Amino acid sequence: MEHNSPNFIRNIIKEDLETGKHDHIVTRFPPEPNGYLHIGHAKSIILNFGVADEFNGKTNLRFDDTNPLKEDVEYVNSIKEDVKWLGYEWDGLFFASDYFDEMYKRAVLLINKGLAYVDDLSGDQIREYRGTLTEPGKDSPYRNRSVEENLDLFDRMRNGEFENGSKVLRAKIDMSSPNINLRDPVIYRILHAEHHNTGDKWCIYPMYAFAHPLEDAIEGVTHSLCTLEFEDQRPLYNWIVENCEMESKPQQYEFGRLNVTNTVMSKRKLKQLVDEGFVDGWDDPRMPTISGLRRRGYTADAIRAFCHEIGVSKAYGAVDSQMLEHFVREDLKLTVPRTMGVLRPLKVVITNYPEGQVEMLDAEINPENEEMGIRQIPFSREIYIEQDDFMENPPKKYFRLFPGNEVRLKHAYFIKCEEVIKDDDGNVIELHCTYDPETKSGTGFTGRKVKGTIHWVEASNAVPAEFRLYQPLIFDEEAGEEEEEKSFLERVNPNSLEILSGFVEPNMKDVVPQDKFQFFRHGYFNVDPKQTTVNHLVFNSIVELKSSFKL
Ligand code: ATP
Ligand code: MG
Ligand code: MG
Repeated sequence: MEHNSPNFIRNIIKEDLETGKHDHIVTRFPPEPNGYLHIGHAKSIILNFGVADEFNGKTNLRFDDTNPLKEDVEYVNSIKEDVKWLGYEWDGLFFASDYFDEMYKRAVLLINKGLAYVDDLSGDQIREYRGTLTEPGKDSPYRNRSVEENLDLFDRMRNGEFENGSKVLRAKIDMSSPNINLRDPVIYRILHAEHHNTGDKWCIYPMYAFAHPLEDAIEGVTHSLCTLEFEDQRPLYNWIVENCEMESKPQQYEFGRLNVTNTVMSKRKLKQLVDEGFVDGWDDPRMPTISGLRRRGYTADAIRAFCHEIGVSKAYGAVDSQMLEHFVREDLKLTVPRTMGVLRPLKVVITNYPEGQVEMLDAEINPENEEMGIRQIPFSREIYIEQDDFMENPPKKYFRLFPGNEVRLKHAYFIKCEEVIKDDDGNVIELHCTYDPETKSGTGFTGRKVKGTIHWVEASNAVPAEFRLYQPLIFDEEAGEEEEEKSFLERVNPNSLEILSGFVEPNMKDVVPQDKFQFFRHGYFNVDPKQTTVNHLVFNSIVELKSSFKL
């Protein structure tokens, strides 16, 4: 696996090993199991596993499941599947909730050291007392409770004597610190809720800022990589590791979070799209989830190559979604078979071709990779072409079919449009054409030239297929619109999915879910694993053939 892209984290690790600060490294990927993973998580996975692989270290998969309200085993399972699919194997598999006893002990230690207290202020009051960037915070009236009283109250919190929200445990640090995170952060709250792992054992739960450094330390993580929003939390992270007297001293490093144009990436928003029926699940092919991208037909190799290209710089800013598409195309170009599919069929009868005759024509499977060999496709008197490859009254420079014009059928013959058949409403329903046997593909015919080459599928053997074409699910806000920030649901594209019924070549009848193809002139498609049945083939458009995007 390729993991040599230079980045600052890699340099830090290299130095830590060279100077002997560490003799081995441990990283972790710590998702909260409250949703499916998205492409942003892929960046974090690839960074954590990639850097550990490179230096013969270890990487844990740790479920950061300290909030019982939002977490679920469905998410745990999907996260495991996605990490594996991206090509990684974890060393340890852990649940933060397995450390609840240890965390509780460390909280008691802080109380004993006079470094934590039970506070009866409400959440709103705590926020108000905390002050602002320009104003120092105010002490809570409960800040100076004795160690004995705090031990007693915390024990009773644990035993379920108090209502949700009526008390919290706070670290006693510094109410006038310029870093607001150090103004006595809440480290435990009361929550009478059943936890997916610990059941009803606990009715107090540690806050993320307290739990995370302890989790890292318990596992002996050496380099704890997180996104830049947590930069201001680093002093608190170190304070907790230090004052809880953790033996192992992990260090936090921050990198820039991945943002992609026309893409929402917060699990909360993605969940809303699922719950409110904008999509048909977390793995809908329009979703930026790993499972959605997989179902769409994106490959793990392409996602890894993309993440390596963007690197881990500390810069913000959104990466163009076309860049990811670029890597998908690059990955599929030489490896997937080419084939022909007609998405919007128009019947063509070749009137001078013998009735009842079917001939087999040779077609290369991938002209850019000859090793893939050739396939055989039938040709006969009736074929389907694409509706928009014919125009009755074409504009200038239209080189496809129109009355009296001749085009090449890919891998077959020249045909000439002789007659247009319409229904009672004047819609074109069929074309009558003639073909020229001398122009057969591969015979070296040079008698005359045509300007257009179109694709087609022989009618009597054609396999019906459904094609699903996608547009971005969400559009970015227009520049200048920020003031009246729209709910992201107002930016949902109502036309993000188009479903078409057409035909594919007969040799496609044996495809299986997740098989990928390049349809001539249309781009790359994936056999949908959820909608495809024995009698109903469904293809997801992965990406079109070309884009203007340049690396
Ligand atoms: P979201 O806000 O999308 O729900 P999160 O950060 O709350 O994401 P976690 O499950 O806590 O989700 O994330 C697990 C790891 O993935 C964290 O270390 C986090 O920093 C990282 N991560 C999440 N989103 C991104 C992103 N867009 N780019 C890079 N890393 C990310
Ligand atoms: Mg999180
Ligand atoms: Mg989140």
